[in-house]
Amino acid sequence: MALKNSIQLISYPDSLGKNLQELHYVMNRYLSKAINGVHILPFYPSSADRGFAPITYYEVDPAFGTWKDIEMIQEDFEIMIDFMVNHISRQSSYFSDYLDKGSESEYADMFLSFNKLSADGKISEEDLNKVYTRKPRVPYQYIERRDGSKEIIWCTFDYEQINFDVTSSKTKELFRDFLIFLSRKKPKYIRMDAFAYTTVKIGTNCFFLEPDVWDLLEMLDGFVSPFGPEMVPEVHENHSYQLKLSEKGFRVYDFALPMLVLQSLYHHTNKRLIDWLKICPKKQFTTLDTHDGIGVVDVAGLMTQEEIDRVINGLYEKKANTKKIYSSANYQNMDIYQINCTYYCALECNDDSYLAARTIQFYTPGIPQVYYVGLLAGENDIKLVEETLNGRDINRHYYNLDEIHEEIQKPVVQRLIRLMEFRNNYPAFDGELIIEDSREDELILSYAYEEYKTTAFIDLKSYKTKIKYFDNNSGSFKEFVA
Ligand code: BGC
Repeated sequence: MALKNSIQLISYPDSLGKNLQELHYVMNRYLSKAINGVHILPFYPSSADRGFAPITYYEVDPAFGTWKDIEMIQEDFEIMIDFMVNHISRQSSYFSDYLDKGSESEYADMFLSFNKLSADGKISEEDLNKVYTRKPRVPYQYIERRDGSKEIIWCTFDYEQINFDVTSSKTKELFRDFLIFLSRKKPKYIRMDAFAYTTVKIGTNCFFLEPDVWDLLEMLDGFVSPFGPEMVPEVHENHSYQLKLSEKGFRVYDFALPMLVLQSLYHHTNKRLIDWLKICPKKQFTTLDTHDGIGVVDVAGLMTQEEIDRVINGLYEKKANTKKIYSSANYQNMDIYQINCTYYCALECNDDSYLAARTIQFYTPGIPQVYYVGLLAGENDIKLVEETLNGRDINRHYYNLDEIHEEIQKPVVQRLIRLMEFRNNYPAFDGELIIEDSREDELILSYAYEEYKTTAFIDLKSYKTKIKYFDNNSGSFKEFVA
């Protein structure tokens, strides 16, 4: 029986090998004991944002494989899949029809024309400035019809990602159809991508507006849960949103952890981290790295602004091999929100420090997610960033099978896989976290369940990490260096 909180890999359908078949092979060959599930980032036909501008949910992009490949992965691993609540591709049949026929289109009501948002079709600069977006651009775009007429429509992300009007009955019908279809595939989780940007009310910041946001989540859950999958609301913002969602019973993301761990390791202190471990939701996914950058706003309030700045400046001063510009508007990012750098590079490619970080993550309550670049202790892909001018591509390398075979042999990766295998199978992790007393520059974390007990001793200065555990076979305690 798998542990309740066993490890999940995060991968694009074409980043560990060129497609789903190769991804499945990589997981079976190298990770069968180290992970129990995988979040396969969007594999639907899409027109931008590496899958996050879906054209439809009924198909798997043939470049990646077919639904059969997804089913075959599911025979061996639990899967998480995405549903983009906020938007659909500009190239989708729904938006194309609207572009073609305007208000005559049967899908017209699904989109947010400025004509719908205000009586005269205009929205003041003042109101637009209030809108919360995390892209260095305005939350709208002009569309032009064949007859030359123009219209302004709401768009919080990329130009290819057209916002839905989630209050429209037509949109609700489409969500119902898509989500019933996806839920019947029986993934373990459906991640509700960027749902918090859907509450559009002019004069507000249009982000996570209550109570609307709760009504939306309830509606989505109504389509998903009858078939078994668990819905995971995704919001990459201040941890207070995660706490709110958690209070309502949702499983959330711990996006505060990456910065807290960097601070602990850079500045040899357990203080802020322990404060968070004491209050963090238990029903959560923990992360150090994902396909997005290292979250900054997520941690505000848990660390002071000075502490946050010190960590960020530290990252750039250290040998992290990234530049501020890669997290700026020139590279489609806003560095106040996220920093683009692989986690291994953020820790100066120091193997001990990296293993210490992963140990902290694995002893934090929740389901640990290990992003594929992090799994291979990958370094920044500067070449890819310079080619695409997309800062997040620094952490989105495409690995082919030969490369994976080589990278897997690196001592740091072998150590990580061993640690993952322990975390993924040792029964004590079904228990609750115990934070043991320690000096400020160390962290001692334990779990106990039935006769099983394990303690991690993490030295935040030397980065040496020791794992002690009760070995049921010999009836004695054993230990290993992570
Ligand atoms: C995803 C991003 C994506 C955005 C829009 C996010 O929360 O994680 O990668 O760009 O949603 O879909």
